Amino acid sequence: MSTSSIPHNHVAIIGTGFGGIATAVRLRQRGFDDFVLLDRAGEVGGVWRDNDYPGAAVDVPSHLYSLSFAPNPNWHNTYAKRAELYAYVKRVTDELGLRRHLVLDCAVERLDWDGVEQLWRLETASGRRTATHVVLATGALADPVIPDLPGLDRFDGVSFHSSRWRHDFDLTGKRVAVIGTGPSAVQFVPAIQPDVAHLTVFQRTPAWVVPRHDREISQANRRLYRTVPALQRMQRLSLYLRHEWKIVAFRNPELMKLPERQARKYLETQVRDPELRAKLLPDFRFGCKRVLISDDYLCSLDQPNVSLVTDGIRSIDENGLIDNAGKQHRVDAIIFGTGFRTSRLPLTDQTYGADGRPMAEIWGKSPTAYLGTAVAGFPNCYLIHGPNIGLGHNSVIQMIESQTNYIAGAVGYARDHQLAAVEPTPAAQQTFTDEVDRLGEGTVWTAGGCQSWYLNEDGRNTNIWPGTTINYRRRTLHFDPAHHLLYRRTALAAVPS
Ligand SMILES: Cc1cc2nc3c(=O)[nH]c(=O)nc-3n(C[C@H](O)[C@H](O)[C@H](O)COP(=O)(O)OP(=O)(O)OC[C@H]3O[C@@H](n4cnc5c(N)ncnc54)[C@H](O)[C@@H]3O)c2cc1C
Repeated sequence: MSTSSIPHNHVAIIGTGFGGIATAVRLRQRGFDDFVLLDRAGEVGGVWRDNDYPGAAVDVPSHLYSLSFAPNPNWHNTYAKRAELYAYVKRVTDELGLRRHLVLDCAVERLDWDGVEQLWRLETASGRRTATHVVLATGALADPVIPDLPGLDRFDGVSFHSSRWRHDFDLTGKRVAVIGTGPSAVQFVPAIQPDVAHLTVFQRTPAWVVPRHDREISQANRRLYRTVPALQRMQRLSLYLRHEWKIVAFRNPELMKLPERQARKYLETQVRDPELRAKLLPDFRFGCKRVLISDDYLCSLDQPNVSLVTDGIRSIDENGLIDNAGKQHRVDAIIFGTGFRTSRLPLTDQTYGADGRPMAEIWGKSPTAYLGTAVAGFPNCYLIHGPNIGLGHNSVIQMIESQTNYIAGAVGYARDHQLAAVEPTPAAQQTFTDEVDRLGEGTVWTAGGCQSWYLNEDGRNTNIWPGTTINYRRRTLHFDPAHHLLYRRTALAAVPS
């Protein structure tokens, strides 16, 4: 079939969160202009566009959680709120001239590698496209999860996920149930607690919580950052190093006893009721699950209009929820703070490689990728925030920017050597996977005594990079042809080395 009427780009980047935007900028720095940024939504922004629940904010200091090539001297708070982050991504898109590359409201539904024409065929909600290279910058936390609770469809009230907040439904004076006590819930629970009539929070596992110490950045400081950009760079470097050294404790769980003691003390200062305190005390090592950062979550639970239920949920009926102890909780609204589908990365079920099988099927329950970014059998295909790219100790933007170095390196190498395609060798992918497993041994994530979403059902860490971000940056700085199969332009045949 002729492809002439189908739009073609050298690179199709799917997703316009921090990952998609950073990839576009790095490609341009490498001399590429023929790229398109596709997103299923009507605006750029990724998680900061979608997660507009009350209290939404970043957990990493703003001067660190931003793109290195787009410093923002005007962050209002030490931990930026969602609206400011969303505005930041939009502004970077405009100021760096990326808007003309955008195709919005364009959900990508399927990708197929065409080994004959040596390109990717994309099926999207607005028609077909082709691209020589594809970047799945579709985020690891983009698809919300709502648990399959018996009777949910019978509920007469309003129910929604935190990332799809119902702003048209006023919670004031309502009886509200919150399911889940993860990073999103600890932000919106204190934000809605003062207004609701009653809040029933359903907790499966308590988390370690530490104070955020968020504060406004003074006008004078912002002015200083604007006039002396080097000062802001120093602030970023200092924040980066302060976060980076924490990996030592994540890799030596015994060292976590100190922050654990501090977190226990913090719990004591925030919650007066000893019974409630006991329910909120984790029984696993600090850092094993994501540590939650909040100045007001714990004390918001110790209020007369809040109950914390730890019995689990048996079912839902017209009036509300029934817990496993048989107690009925009548509510007007249910809010799911139940996180995102992390077992399968978005679109990987619909990305068909050289042998015609989808990436997620090849992975099964243990996703792996060379440098967490490229997968053997999937030529010219890259994943931002792929397997083992998540962090527990630093800003994930650091990892994403490292990934873009590798991606631009691979796309640039193919161009410079007139290659049709590159893909990692199975051996290079396996070596990287073995290193991840070795690095992960004995860390707080694998030996911290908890079952987190970082681990698959066999207990293998498929999500977290268990080393330093410096180590990962070093690996991704230069494209190594020896770790790749290199295909000539005419046919899918590896160039003999
Ligand atoms: C509420 C929340 C708070 C967070 N806080 C922090 C934090 O404090 N610190 C930290 O380091 N990380 C945090 N994260 C993790 C966050 O995922 C990363 O920091 C980062 O923003 C990920 O960027 P991304 O571009 O990879 O993905 P995303 O921001 O998720 O962007 C993915 C984009 O892909 C698009 N997309 C998905 N599927 C398709 C498709 N089929 N077709 C077309 N487009 C598609 C989506 O619409 C979206 O715009 C948080 C995540 C969430 C959800």
